[in-house]
Amino acid sequence: MKVSNRYLHVISRISLAAIAAASGLAHAERIHRYAVSVNPELTRLAVTACFDGQVPDRLVAESLDASVALIGVWNDKTGKEIQPSGSIPLKTLAADGCVRYAVDVSRPIKRHDRTGGKVRRVGSDVAVSVGLWLWRPERLDQDEDVELVFELPESIGMSVPWSPVDGTDQPTYRLGRTPSDWPAWSAFGHFTERTAEVAGSQLRIALLDGSPAVDRDEIGGWVIDAAVMVGGLYGRFPYPNAQVLVVPNARVREPTPWAFVTRGGGPAVHFVINQRRPINEFYEDWTAAHEFSHLLLPFVRSREAWVSEGLATYYQNVLRARAGRLSEQTVWQNLHAGFGRGRREAQDLTLSEATRRMYHSRLFMKVYWSGTAIMLLADVRLRQYSDGAQSLDTALAALNSCCFEPQREWRARELFAKLDELTGTDVFTQLLNEYEDSEQFPDLSTAYRELGLEPYGRRSVRLASDAPYADLRRAIMSGNGAGAGTIQAPSATLDR
Ligand SMILES: [Zn+2]
Repeated sequence: MKVSNRYLHVISRISLAAIAAASGLAHAERIHRYAVSVNPELTRLAVTACFDGQVPDRLVAESLDASVALIGVWNDKTGKEIQPSGSIPLKTLAADGCVRYAVDVSRPIKRHDRTGGKVRRVGSDVAVSVGLWLWRPERLDQDEDVELVFELPESIGMSVPWSPVDGTDQPTYRLGRTPSDWPAWSAFGHFTERTAEVAGSQLRIALLDGSPAVDRDEIGGWVIDAAVMVGGLYGRFPYPNAQVLVVPNARVREPTPWAFVTRGGGPAVHFVINQRRPINEFYEDWTAAHEFSHLLLPFVRSREAWVSEGLATYYQNVLRARAGRLSEQTVWQNLHAGFGRGRREAQDLTLSEATRRMYHSRLFMKVYWSGTAIMLLADVRLRQYSDGAQSLDTALAALNSCCFEPQREWRARELFAKLDELTGTDVFTQLLNEYEDSEQFPDLSTAYRELGLEPYGRRSVRLASDAPYADLRRAIMSGNGAGAGTIQAPSATLDR
């Protein structure tokens, strides 16, 4: 069995400490220190980056527009300006040297980077893509990390995805070892980040400035509610901490028109909301359950997004049934209607082709619902083969315990092979072999018959109580009968 990076890191720290102690060396770990300050107008970030020991050859930023936003870079000791060219070259810097740089975040820049605005003014607050301002070593060794200490103007709060360092006077974070090209967001403004304890995890929730004002308790409660559902899947939230960034003022009729997850520096869930909509619409909407469910898997590469979208779509339904928000009947009808939409779209493309073209050709139905059907089939087969002892829930719990490795990108085949190894089956790989390169929508006819799902029309199903696996069908939606899949009502508290 492989252990996760996190534990490897602990082990390596222990052994390095042992070596250091034995050889009389102090501090085997190298920590580069970044002091970051923000001006009161929130238009400029200034960074002094000091390196521990040997200086990296160059610093990189995730966004192509970081060079455009860069005001200047200087050798901190000599005051000499350094000319960037795509990256910041540090060859002239001596060991333990420092550089200073400043970044203009007063306006959105979209010159080279086509992935959307990297600076968003939200009322009196600002959200800035970390990729626009953080110039960092491209890779960090196992014994290396960057510590970021923030100096903020009076009454300015912040939100970032990194792991916080406790017991410091100023906000301090460790960058960690997610790849330097994974996106991440920061926000600065007149808000206080609130910490919610959810199923053993610290959620750091920031709500940006809204007009009309956002009801912080109501919206905070809605975010926590969805996180609690995911934390209930196997009794703990999949990550020890997560950033939640809520951006109000969306001008559409829905409560949450846009939401996404980023993984750079740590897991983060982003919501763009229309705070004018009544709070019950937020609870009725599937978005929050969907986004938090994404965190049940580590990052699977985008060209195989059917895996993560399928899993999140499956659980956004299942978890809301388990929480008593939707009836068993409604959830099966949601799933049935979704499978129909997926089946009708792009029938001439294989699932992998459709996934690769998903954004360009808007093939979301085929991709999301094929993935959901595969997750349902995996869940049903695991429960059948193990007589209810295993399920998709227990497989995910096992993955999270042993080998989550959230700091790297996974391939679908590798992830499925791991899930097979953990469950002692070939359920996942078999489904992958059958459907990844097929134009056919996953065949649900046997599952429907066994579970007692009797469709009538495009959107409706009857639930037959005398079907051979009617109990299994109920167990999926009640969360009972498969070990760790029981809702354990994890506690959640919100700091004031
Ligand atoms: Zn999604």
